[in-house]
Amino acid sequence: MTAVSLGMPEVPAPPLAERRASRRIQVGPVAVGGGAPVSVQSMTTTRTSDIGATLQQIAELTASGCQIVRVACPTQDDADALATIARKSQIPVIADIHFQPKYVFAAIEAGCAAVRVNPGNIKQFDDRVKEIARAAQDHGTPIRIGVNAGSLDRRLLQKYGRATPEALVESALWEASLFEEHGFRDIKISVKHNDPVVMVNAYRLLAERCDYPLHLGVTEAGPAFQGTIKSAVAFGALLSEGIGDTIRVSLSAPPAEEVKVGIQILQSLGLRERRLEIVSCPSCGRAQVDVYKLADEVTAGLDGMEVPLRVAVMGCVVNGPGEAREADLGVASGNGKGQIFVKGEVIKTVPESKIVETLIEEAMKIAEQMEKDGAASGEPAVTVS
Ligand code: SF4
Repeated sequence: MTAVSLGMPEVPAPPLAERRASRRIQVGPVAVGGGAPVSVQSMTTTRTSDIGATLQQIAELTASGCQIVRVACPTQDDADALATIARKSQIPVIADIHFQPKYVFAAIEAGCAAVRVNPGNIKQFDDRVKEIARAAQDHGTPIRIGVNAGSLDRRLLQKYGRATPEALVESALWEASLFEEHGFRDIKISVKHNDPVVMVNAYRLLAERCDYPLHLGVTEAGPAFQGTIKSAVAFGALLSEGIGDTIRVSLSAPPAEEVKVGIQILQSLGLRERRLEIVSCPSCGRAQVDVYKLADEVTAGLDGMEVPLRVAVMGCVVNGPGEAREADLGVASGNGKGQIFVKGEVIKTVPESKIVETLIEEAMKIAEQMEKDGAASGEPAVTVS
């Protein structure tokens, strides 16, 4: 394996691209677009009408770093629960509504920070788009137009044959125009597809054709492993071109997992400050210690640490010392021992059985000092070099 510098860069790397210029909307206290930091959102999986369970899941999401949460609102009972949920949630709540205008009005009245609704659906069943635009305007409630490949307008499916990027974008811009004709532009848009290639091309096209902030998502991305990769690849492509203002990773997994993945994607792209980072080698035939186990144990031991600390876990003495030396804290293992480095200096050599506890102990000391020095809070990250 090639030796690489694991040190925290003194000057942060420049962003991959200038952010696309977009108008700004306010989802409660969270600004979206207009150069605001890219936010991470998720969606509850509870019945919204079960207020206790929904608030409990929102609290878990908040603790995992989620900044905006969406709740489904398919029934009157769900609509009735919105006011309490919006009031008690620690993060802004978006009501996700299809078809029924009465739930849109209920969500706006309930104090939801935004509503996801497609005016095309509303127009088709009960044309109250003008009233919705006025109510949203009066309450300062932004609206997300969310076009999904799976629910694309039949007219566009006939025109394009399938959910192509052009079809998704035409649908989104048509939906937006239904609000624009009433002077309402407090909008963000998503054009989701389960194929990252189609999705990336759709967002690229949309980014060229409007200045609305964009909510990125790969819809039905799949179970955790596949969904994480699809989302990372698609968001990475778009965000590295400056496209995207808020992200939702969709996984068939608990929503807090979506948030962790979203945060990690932003940190990896340098769009969010990196926090605790475990840099562990992939191991190879030279390894003299079980690197996976060591890395897992150190990661578990430092879970919850909220300072930007880079901890290197290296499997052997060939590349290990050079690399561990570059991190804030590191270990290079060999011959049943571990050399412990702090800020480039070997501070001690301990038996293999003591490596984990020594690293945790030293990490705590450094973290304490960093906290005294005013380092901010954040999420841990794990990187395999
Ligand atoms: S054991 Fe780890 S540090 Fe040593 S050479 Fe192999 S990959 Fe690199």
